[in-house]
Amino acid sequence: MDVEALTAQMDRDRASGDAPVMVVGTAGSVGTGAVDPLPAIAAACRARGVWFHVDGAYGGVAAQVPGAPADLVGLVEADSVAVDPHKWLYAPLEAGCVLVRDPENLRAAFAYHPPYYRFGEHATDFLELGPQNSRGFRALKVWLAFKQAGASGYRQMIGDDMRLSRMLAAAVAAHPSLELGTQQLSITTFRYVPDELCGELTGEARDRALDLLNHALLDRLQRGGETFVSHAVVGGRTLLRACIVNFHTTEADLTALVEIVVATGRRIEAELRARRPHATH
Ligand SMILES: *Cc1c(COP(=O)(O)O)cnc(C)c1O
Repeated sequence: MDVEALTAQMDRDRASGDAPVMVVGTAGSVGTGAVDPLPAIAAACRARGVWFHVDGAYGGVAAQVPGAPADLVGLVEADSVAVDPHKWLYAPLEAGCVLVRDPENLRAAFAYHPPYYRFGEHATDFLELGPQNSRGFRALKVWLAFKQAGASGYRQMIGDDMRLSRMLAAAVAAHPSLELGTQQLSITTFRYVPDELCGELTGEARDRALDLLNHALLDRLQRGGETFVSHAVVGGRTLLRACIVNFHTTEADLTALVEIVVATGRRIEAELRARRPHATH
């Protein structure tokens, strides 16, 4: 997020009679794990009396890990934060969670008292805290895992995932047939680049050819069943995306991933060449 553009927009809105009510910052974007300048956004919101929410669905929990992006410290200033224990807290699907600084805000927003609901003072009345009343006990699996791993266990596991992601980025950067896109938190993006193509095409034509090739590669990898990567679009380019959020992932898995991606890429290249015998790419 461009904080200068944000503040300018909020001030323009105010001046024209509109009332900005909330800003949502991102602590770990879906595609690349990018973290917004959360402390600066928090300051801009506080100065204008605007609610500051952070989408930390994936990356929020990395804040506690040494070596995490410094901007994550801005989470402490948020009015509300969304986190998904089913992502980097390793809980089985699904367990979404919203944390609010002042729980009374939830009561003020959601509480209502129809005559057919009367739970009394002794129980936590979820009807007053959100849109959902009847609900399963999702919190149990999150609580149990915390009991088992503890905060230190989580710090260890999340830190390991980030370290593995950086190792993958290094392996990709060192490989002649792969091109590194981004590495942030535990997400590494990259693409397969055949040697031949590099020499023949440049600029936009090269990017479009690589987009097509990597789309085909993504599809083949996902159907193949050996490894699973998703994709990210970064600066208009299609990249393969490896997001490590499993504490069972090891260095050997990353070595295998690189080998499988390159071998599959070569196979697709060969097929393309066989199908178009007169084309050189
Ligand atoms: C996964 C994700 C979401 C969506 O969350 P779900 O609860 O899994 O549907 C929203 N924002 C970010 C940044 C995410 O990574």
